[in-house]
Amino acid sequence: VEQNHKALYDLMEQVARYYQTQLRQHPSAARAVDYLKQRGLTGQIAKQFDLGFAAPGWDNLLQQFGSNETQRKLLLDAGMLVQNESGKIYDRFRDRIVFPIRDQRGRVIAFGGRVLGDDKPKYLNSPETAIFHKGRELYGLYQARKANRKLERILVVEGYMDVIALAQHDISYATATLGTATSKTHLERIFRLCPEVVFCFDGDQAGRKAAFRALEAALPALEDGRQARFLFLPEGEDPDDAVRAGGRDGFELMLQQAKALENFLFETLSEGLDSNSLDGRARLSKLALPYIRQMPEGVYQQLMFQELARRTGLELSSLMQLEAPAAPKT
Ligand code: ATP
Ligand code: MN
Ligand code: MN
Ligand code: MN
Repeated sequence: VEQNHKALYDLMEQVARYYQTQLRQHPSAARAVDYLKQRGLTGQIAKQFDLGFAAPGWDNLLQQFGSNETQRKLLLDAGMLVQNESGKIYDRFRDRIVFPIRDQRGRVIAFGGRVLGDDKPKYLNSPETAIFHKGRELYGLYQARKANRKLERILVVEGYMDVIALAQHDISYATATLGTATSKTHLERIFRLCPEVVFCFDGDQAGRKAAFRALEAALPALEDGRQARFLFLPEGEDPDDAVRAGGRDGFELMLQQAKALENFLFETLSEGLDSNSLDGRARLSKLALPYIRQMPEGVYQQLMFQELARRTGLELSSLMQLEAPAAPKT
């Protein structure tokens, strides 16, 4: 049952406004403004994403909102204030750039915060709360919908800064999963809005792993007319780096060449197999079938079976009769 969290949503919006004002007015905010500038962001884009500043200190937010007991309780529930074992209450976000996370309807449901330098942890996020479920939300989706009357595609990236740097370069259809795996809920949400998703994770081992997990989450959603593609960036680069290096045109050129899901699937499953040997082709059949069987029935799925038949040299009819091995974990 969806509880009524109106007071909480209202307060979270006020908190976002407060942090935004701090970014403009707090005596030590110049460092934060410089940091954002140095990352290539303008004031306009900072405003579009409501970027703010949690000033240094343990109790700025507590002082601002916490003297009202109702508000203090709400902020503890929302994870904006933290209580330690000895009962002391303090601000979760301190001396960080803060990113309000909005749900699809634009309500502030959580925050992320980044240190201004190389301190650890680099990012801090709100915990799961009554209004924030990490596995469902996509950072930037609200802004992407606002910027595009009709979305042709949605880009899925890893981080806040990737979304914002892309928007800074007029690529205003990126969203981020924020350190959680791409879920079926994410995919359903995306495909309700547009027919194409492009995953563009960081060019590192973790990013490539995340891409294959995204493929697994996408398969059951791939009805005819829907498409999932994968843009793999050069080693060590993330979308923020890539768009700053290549600009909008460079990035969109790479996007055009993003890998279709079928190629990513077959190439990944063929790794380490000898596609010239009968044994290698037999293994590919066994490996690929359970993935293709995750797709909804339709022409796309049929074509995938055919492509597997072509790659293995099996008759389609024999392929379809192969016993289903255990389904892959998703
Ligand atoms: P930047 O460019 O600001 O250094 P990034 O966006 O490239 O950061 P990554 O290290 O690639 O950051 O991480 C991607 C995302 O994963 C972040 O935006 C954040 O949401 C999440 N994340 C990263 N590190 C942490 C952490 N220590 N705790 C929680 N979430 C994290
Ligand atoms: Mn990363
Ligand atoms: Mn980065
Ligand atoms: Mn990154």
